[in-house]
Amino acid sequence: MRLENKVAIVTGAASGIGKQIALTYVQAGAKVAIADLNLDAANATAREFESIGGKGAAIGVAMDVTNEAQVNEQVDKVAAQYGRLDILVSNAGIQTIAPIDEFEFSKWKQLLSIHLDGAFLTTRAALRHMYKFGNGGSVIYMGSVHSKEASLLKAPYVTAKHGLIGLAKVVAKEGAKHGVRANVICPGFVRTPLVDKQIPEQAKELGISEQEVIKNIMLKDTVDGEFTTVQDVADAALFFAAFGSNALTGQSLVVSHGWFMQ
Ligand code: NAD
Repeated sequence: MRLENKVAIVTGAASGIGKQIALTYVQAGAKVAIADLNLDAANATAREFESIGGKGAAIGVAMDVTNEAQVNEQVDKVAAQYGRLDILVSNAGIQTIAPIDEFEFSKWKQLLSIHLDGAFLTTRAALRHMYKFGNGGSVIYMGSVHSKEASLLKAPYVTAKHGLIGLAKVVAKEGAKHGVRANVICPGFVRTPLVDKQIPEQAKELGISEQEVIKNIMLKDTVDGEFTTVQDVADAALFFAAFGSNALTGQSLVVSHGWFMQ
């Protein structure tokens, strides 16, 4: 699956899953904007990818996905620099855990804003270019098994990840006449900084060991007790990006070692 001449924006691409998606797209020949809150890390990631060679390329872009003006400005800049925009991966995200009865409202709003406002703002900015250029496009949302299932302590995350499926379905319907598809990837647990931070937090909150969090909570319902990898998720993101028609739109794909089966 190749992405030669395609231009992609991947949010939250200076770390974890987004970084591997960006790398996989560059390896497939795409020009990729690594859009992240952390510009230094985004630029460092772009430099790291330069050494790969081949037809792909990467640039770092400063973007807080909750900042309407900055999202518009940076998406416009990427589209102008490369003269097209084909793929948006709305991936930036955080995790905050607490029982609902103790959840701080400010933290609830922060999480929903990054996951949902961020998805909306980047989608709106990207669609304007995709529609105008007339080359179609692929919008990919980073959902989670938590787009389908609930877990203790994760009220805003589960709410936001379920919400992304609704947004993808609307984009699939509205985008169809422009050849723009929208889909959601729903990974199981992947060892990234986001998950590494959660393990000790959950252990403390639930009064169990970190090993028990991994074995009895995170991987308990997988078919083989394995973490999903960043490359597993990036391969799914490449498939959605490279797929050639509206046949594959409005879907959500669970990549979770069988934790959740549809
Ligand atoms: P990560 O912490 O490794 O990376 C997240 C990146 O997002 C960071 O580079 C961070 O700077 C960036 N970011 C945070 N807030 C931002 C903002 N407001 N604007 C722009 N960038 C911002 O996390 P990850 O595990 O790679 O997670 C990426 C996505 O995958 C998230 O949406 C997450 O919910 C989802 N996900 C992760 C897992 C997992 O197990 N790691 C599982 C399912 C879904």
